[in-house]
Amino acid sequence: MFTTIKNAKIYTPRGIKRSVTIKDDKIIGFDDGFKADREIDAQGKTVVAGFHDSHMHLLGIGRMLSILRLQEARSIEDIVRLGRQYILNNPDKDHIIGRGWNQDYFTDGPVIPTKDDLDRICKDKPIVLTRACGHIGVVNSKALKMAGVTKDSPDPDGGVFVRDGAGEPNGILHETALGYVQNIFPDISEKEIERRYRIAMDYVSALGITAVQANDLYQDNQEKVLSVLSRLDKSGELKVRVFHQFTFEDEQALEVFLKENANSGLFSDRHRLSALKLYKDGSLGARTALMRKPYHDDPATLGVDTLPNEKMKALGLIAKKYGLPLVAHVIGDGAIEQTIGVLAVINDAGNPLRSGLIHHQITDLELLKKTAQHRLHVFYQPIFLHYDMHILEDRVGGELAATSYAFKTQMELGATTSYGTDAPIEEPNPLECLYCAVTRKDLKGYPPKGFMPSEKVTVAQALRNYTESSAYAIRMEDRLGRLEIGHYADLVILSDDPYEVEPDKIKDIKAMLTMMNGKVTFDKAGLMEA
Ligand SMILES: [Zn+2]
Repeated sequence: MFTTIKNAKIYTPRGIKRSVTIKDDKIIGFDDGFKADREIDAQGKTVVAGFHDSHMHLLGIGRMLSILRLQEARSIEDIVRLGRQYILNNPDKDHIIGRGWNQDYFTDGPVIPTKDDLDRICKDKPIVLTRACGHIGVVNSKALKMAGVTKDSPDPDGGVFVRDGAGEPNGILHETALGYVQNIFPDISEKEIERRYRIAMDYVSALGITAVQANDLYQDNQEKVLSVLSRLDKSGELKVRVFHQFTFEDEQALEVFLKENANSGLFSDRHRLSALKLYKDGSLGARTALMRKPYHDDPATLGVDTLPNEKMKALGLIAKKYGLPLVAHVIGDGAIEQTIGVLAVINDAGNPLRSGLIHHQITDLELLKKTAQHRLHVFYQPIFLHYDMHILEDRVGGELAATSYAFKTQMELGATTSYGTDAPIEEPNPLECLYCAVTRKDLKGYPPKGFMPSEKVTVAQALRNYTESSAYAIRMEDRLGRLEIGHYADLVILSDDPYEVEPDKIKDIKAMLTMMNGKVTFDKAGLMEA
């Protein structure tokens, strides 16, 4: 099957081209006048390599699209109202899962809801509502009761049941306490996993995404996830490439999993394992990111260390044995410093497996230099600026804030960096994320000159970090991430040219047509019929 995209403005490493010819899944030529079986008229629009989100949760997006969404809540009253409405619209659900509230957006004060608030939504079905960050949640009395959490329950390892003045759990849960209560819900079925993947793939391909490094796979769901995705891959129904940043925190289970799967025939260039992903700390919003010095706005805490270094090292060495890198969730400077130390022990010189640091938010110049020296790859989420710029100085003080989210400095020091969104923590929209990297503004355009404007990157750098550099992170840059002969035909036709529009307008650019592996996965304007 031959396809030509004509009348286009195609950005390639060898300059701008007008047409591209694709044979099956690969690019075979540019401006070659080839008469193909199928023609797509781009109507003069811009074509760039397909967006590759280098850290997100694809299954989480599918879940997000099916549960109670609380991103719009601007008060506890909003949460109660949206919760009641959801129950009316979904009478068959025997338990209510919600996500996305953030008390810092509440217009009547940053107060976290408690079980008493949730009991006003419903008392006879369990309710769990997780904060946008995923590290804090609140549940109603029914859920606490079903989980057997009482005044006498000790806090689980690595988590907290927050209590009222009388020592009674008030429904607010931190870190592992959240998982502890969620255990009351039955495991989701393979059918439900497939349904969620399908809606998530439709959602992200409409945004111009053609590949994701997804942190979806855990010990509990690995069999079902691999079964669903390899089936969709074999039947040609995968709309995005899925590379697994898989999480295992038990050495024996990890060894068994990798022995069985690492070199199995299950995988392809569209679906495979890419890295072991571990969590070293929590989030900045919840003050659970692990800091070297106490929080500026809460001197009683340094955050939470969620994984001892020795354990990280042991797990990382098992992954290495199977040729897989370790990538770690690190937000606070304490987590970053300790993890660099662990990776220095695990990695071979030059970091050939491309181990890396995900988020990498709170940094000083010395940590940025060390990251580059150890040749660690950095997985940034520029869209985090949208929210974090408003709390950063409060949390860590002015001095450290000035050297954090250092997208440009980290590149200039020589580290490779790739971009993503951590969706569903943030929207997976690549254009909004690119806008944040290029303008250093929130989505409302604040501040007018950009937050720490010296860290702005160029459009070319940002696009490279969303395509080529994401492919580099998984050692596929020889065949993925650039519009070049011999590369996979993963591309997106955009409504406007990000190099030409005002930087403030980059966030408004839309995907018109998305192609993954030579197949059209999204076609907004019916360009394919043209
Ligand atoms: Zn994540």
